[in-house]
This record gives sequence, structure tokens and C-alpha cells, in this order.
Amino acid sequence: MEIWVLRLGHRPHRDQRITTHVMLAARAFGAHGALYTGVRDESMERSVHGVVENWGGSFKVRYVESWRKALRDWRERGGRVIHLTMYGLPVQRVIDEIRADPSPKLIVVGGAKVPGELYGEADWNVAVTSQPHSEVSALAVFLHMLYEGRELELEFEGAKLRVIPQERGKRVERLA
Ligand code: SAM
Repeated sequence: MEIWVLRLGHRPHRDQRITTHVMLAARAFGAHGALYTGVRDESMERSVHGVVENWGGSFKVRYVESWRKALRDWRERGGRVIHLTMYGLPVQRVIDEIRADPSPKLIVVGGAKVPGELYGEADWNVAVTSQPHSEVSALAVFLHMLYEGRELELEFEGAKLRVIPQERGKRVERLA
């Protein structure tokens, strides 16, 4: 199942760190790419591309001006939309239904302000607990449940660096 993430309302400087973390969590937990709206931020894009360059895989980042158009384009390709929000249905109740649907999925996470219409536009509004926390934690837990833990074994093709897991200390192997 193809999985992309849409991060809403990026503000350079204020959100650089958290948007980068949304992208890195998306990549590490098995999404294929991420779109973002708000203000284009080439420096954030470069830092995500730098991680892909060193640690492998083919994760893509693309800026889109309009979330409505992004959703329309996604649906035209036969995709469906999941909005992560504390007000949605509990993830543990809907994840099997989402996993059973083979269509490509766009997982939308908010920023400072989420447009009200999105709740009506999404195929699923999904809560990872009904407590407020963050786009990064919501996305990571959602992907972990979607993939049932298989994402923990992912290998990233073309990596230049690879960690050799150690009980203590740090060991990194250079592959190219
Ligand atoms: N104040 C914003 C709003 O209008 O909803 C939410 C801000 S929150 C820091 C940013 C994003 O984190 C949300 O839009 C949502 O995608 C995600 N998020 C936070 N808590 C969540 C939860 N319990 N379940 C699912 N997603 C959550």
C-alpha cells in the first residue's frame, strides 16, 4: 500500500525542527514520501534530503500550495485520506479497516491551525488517544499500528551509512 504524509501549514523558522521530524518519522516508519503546505522551505527540504542521501531509501519531499488540490489530486489517483486528530475515532478501532483497504493512503497531520473542512474531507478522522500531543508522535504510532511493527525491520536501499547496533556506544559502518 502506497503511503504518503501531508503536513499542513509549515512556517519556516518556527516549524523547521518539527516539520523535519514529521518527515524523518514518516521515512523511518515506512512512508514513501511527504507533501507539505504553508511556506516553501528549501532549507528543511535539504535537511531531509541529506538524511535520505546518507541513510538510504527513496523518500521524497514535495511542497504543494493547496491542501485541497493535493487531496483532489490524490483522490483522482484512486487514493484515500486519513486525518490524524485527537477528535477522531480511536486508532485501535479503525486500523484493521484501513489496513484492509488497498488504496494508496495520504495521512494528513496538522500544524498550528487545522482547517475545519478537513474533518469532512477525510475518509477517516483517526485519534491516537483523545489527548493532545504532537504530529510526530501521532504519525509514528499510527504507522507502527498500520504496519504491525514490520517497519522496524526496514532496510533502506543505497544507504552510505548503517548503524551496527551495540549494547553500549556507537558504531556506524560506511558502505560507500
Ligand atoms: N491546534 C491544532 C488544531 O487545530 O487541531 C492541533 C495542534 S497539534 C500540536 C498538531 C497535530 O498533531 C494535529 O493537527 C494532529 O494531526 C496531531 N495530533 C495531536 N494530538 C493527536 C492525537 N491525540 N491523535 C491524533 N493526532 C494528533
